[in-house]
Amino acid sequence: MPEVSVTDLGHDLYLIDAQMHDEAERLACYLFDTPNRVLIECGPSRTLDHLYRALDHVGVDDLAVMAVTHIHLDHAGGAGHLARRFPNAMIGVHAAGARHLVSPERLWDSATRIYSAQGMLDLWGPMEPLAENRLLVLDEGDAIPLGNGRAVEVMHTPGHAKHHIVFFEERTGACFVGDAVGIAFPHGHMVQPNTPPPDFDPILITEQLHRIAARQPAFLGFAHFGADPRPQATLARAEERLWEWVRWIEQVTPDDNIAELLRDWVLNDYRAQGYEEALIDRYDRNSFWPMQAAGIERWLSLRDQ
Ligand SMILES: [Zn+2]
Repeated sequence: MPEVSVTDLGHDLYLIDAQMHDEAERLACYLFDTPNRVLIECGPSRTLDHLYRALDHVGVDDLAVMAVTHIHLDHAGGAGHLARRFPNAMIGVHAAGARHLVSPERLWDSATRIYSAQGMLDLWGPMEPLAENRLLVLDEGDAIPLGNGRAVEVMHTPGHAKHHIVFFEERTGACFVGDAVGIAFPHGHMVQPNTPPPDFDPILITEQLHRIAARQPAFLGFAHFGADPRPQATLARAEERLWEWVRWIEQVTPDDNIAELLRDWVLNDYRAQGYEEALIDRYDRNSFWPMQAAGIERWLSLRDQ
């Protein structure tokens, strides 16, 4: 793992490897080093030091806004800490997620049920409540100014989470998709659904994939991980793959091992498609299979009620 990993994407936009879990290519943050500096995603508190080192390296001593695509801990867990480190920064978040950053107890408790108390500390580190006056509450159609006439536009994209938003920027043609599309390693040419409970809804996700495609972005900025220069192909593949997963879960008999079965099916399919073992391992380690299976099962059971 290099000391810092910052990639210049042009037009004052930088991709920062936040080295989440002390590993390369687990979480990408995106920085607009513009008159009003805007950072997209901060990651969990446990590995914020990696992000701070990268920001120091680029010469960033102040941020106007740090905006998260959604409040899951791998994106926003460190928001309260970051607000303390950058006292002028406003923290951008969708209206439906904002209260969970101000009072993180409920978010913390529901994540603890998934990861266990020890897992929470090992993976994410603590959350600090964000002062209400630091919130920049965002919704569909809002714009975060970058200066020099540029802005980051906000689109509300529920489906992965109710409060998920994505960001567009016209000059770069970037669309920062968070987890709205899935996870994708650009050199891997595949995209994998990300289907956690309680909000996962493939119908809503499909709608968002179409809306993102209609904006014709030049590239997708994945949180996990990096810039994908073939957005239309990736968005189409994401939709196909999403429904393949849902249909697969639908046809298995409910079983305690459903997460393990899903994992075997997905990874064996990657092997059959000829992907290298190292790449397959990367998708595997970026997936928490019990959560993927539980999200789809929950959606199916609500649908069938
Ligand atoms: Zn994520």
